[in-house]
Amino acid sequence: MYDNNNIFAKILRNEIPCNKVYEDEHSLFFKDIKPQAKIHILGIPKSPCVDFADFINKTDKKAISSFFESLEKVIEMLNIKETGYRIISNSGENGGQEVPHFHFHILAGEKIGSLR
Ligand code: 5GP
Repeated sequence: MYDNNNIFAKILRNEIPCNKVYEDEHSLFFKDIKPQAKIHILGIPKSPCVDFADFINKTDKKAISSFFESLEKVIEMLNIKETGYRIISNSGENGGQEVPHFHFHILAGEKIGSLR
């Protein structure tokens, strides 16, 4: 069940600010408040979805492909294609998800360490 009061839902409603990097009809990308790398961007779809499976199962195909195209556009904008980056999405308790609105982390700008 999607929680309309999660922090990213509030960011999408402009109830709390974010440091925006890119926005279009289906997606919003902004800087993580506690960066874990020199570049740490969060990418969220505007549709209300808890995690990856929820996003794929509940969102219309056009919005899904638009989100992934925007993700690639932001990677291009950040100029990190050559040097490399990591994109990850945490799901649920075992995945370590804190905010229950589906999101990708883009980590870059330095060598990203091992996953643990
Ligand atoms: P998760 O653990 O759910 O994959 O990642 C949630 C991310 O959201 C964390 O990296 C955390 O620093 C970030 N975050 C939490 N609250 C806020 C906020 O209010 N603004 C921004 N920009 N990032 C946030």
